[in-house]
Amino acid sequence: MKYIGAHVSIAGGVENAPENARAIGATAFALFTKNQRQWKAKPLEEKQIALFKERCAAYGYTPEQILPHDSYLINLGAPEEESLEKSRAAFEDEMARCEQLGLKYLNFHPGSHKKMISQEACLARIAESVNRALEKTSGVIAVIENTAGQGSNLGWRFEHLAAIIDGVEDKSRIGVCLDTCHTFSAGYDIRTPEAYEKTMSEFEQVVGFKYLCGMHLNDAKPELGSRVDRHESIGKGQIGLEAFRLIMNDPRMDGIPLVLETIDESLWAEEIKLLYSLVDS
Ligand SMILES: [Zn+2]
Ligand SMILES: [Zn+2]
Repeated sequence: MKYIGAHVSIAGGVENAPENARAIGATAFALFTKNQRQWKAKPLEEKQIALFKERCAAYGYTPEQILPHDSYLINLGAPEEESLEKSRAAFEDEMARCEQLGLKYLNFHPGSHKKMISQEACLARIAESVNRALEKTSGVIAVIENTAGQGSNLGWRFEHLAAIIDGVEDKSRIGVCLDTCHTFSAGYDIRTPEAYEKTMSEFEQVVGFKYLCGMHLNDAKPELGSRVDRHESIGKGQIGLEAFRLIMNDPRMDGIPLVLETIDESLWAEEIKLLYSLVDS
């Protein structure tokens, strides 16, 4: 069973996300648990938490189908002490919010060395940031998203993901989310059955599918290996439909949230139908 949805709005409160997902026929969804452009957020209210859980149950969304995303401001590998501390505190708060909402995952972008520290030092900082957050919370799995490798962002090579996992003490609470646009922009081809299998077997060898907790389904505007992060609607970019057909028929992606972050949200309902139509019967 494939769970497919999109990163839906929380305008008016997190408790509105399940309705926004249901409205587009989604069987999965992603959400921010606070305003992603601000460092601080007011705590979730008991009433909001109860409503969120109630609506998820009513619409059939289990924690396995929901992939919360952290704020873009957070850099868990930040070279400067002050911004590292600020990022760690914000991430711990977001992990706690997910725990309050009864959620299982928190998807995060690994971090950036800003050309001030080595790649290795940055990856070690990210792992240490995750260790601290795991210690202060319980149950929620920290899910590293692979990146396009734009600027000094790490996490675009599968080896970076493996290095972070290696540094995390509790392996039961660390996972990975593969973004198809980022994977492709980072130089991993998935456009043909052969290229797809080569990339996925490399992922299995370097990271391991046992860590795969979710995917972001995005086509890409830029070319293979461009290291540029620009999403496109499904089938309208450089990746093309075949890659998504391969994913939809790959049992390794069963039972995890597959989330659209494509640029035209008016197409999400159609894109979900399109993706389901690619499943071989
Ligand atoms: Zn993504
Ligand atoms: Zn992206």
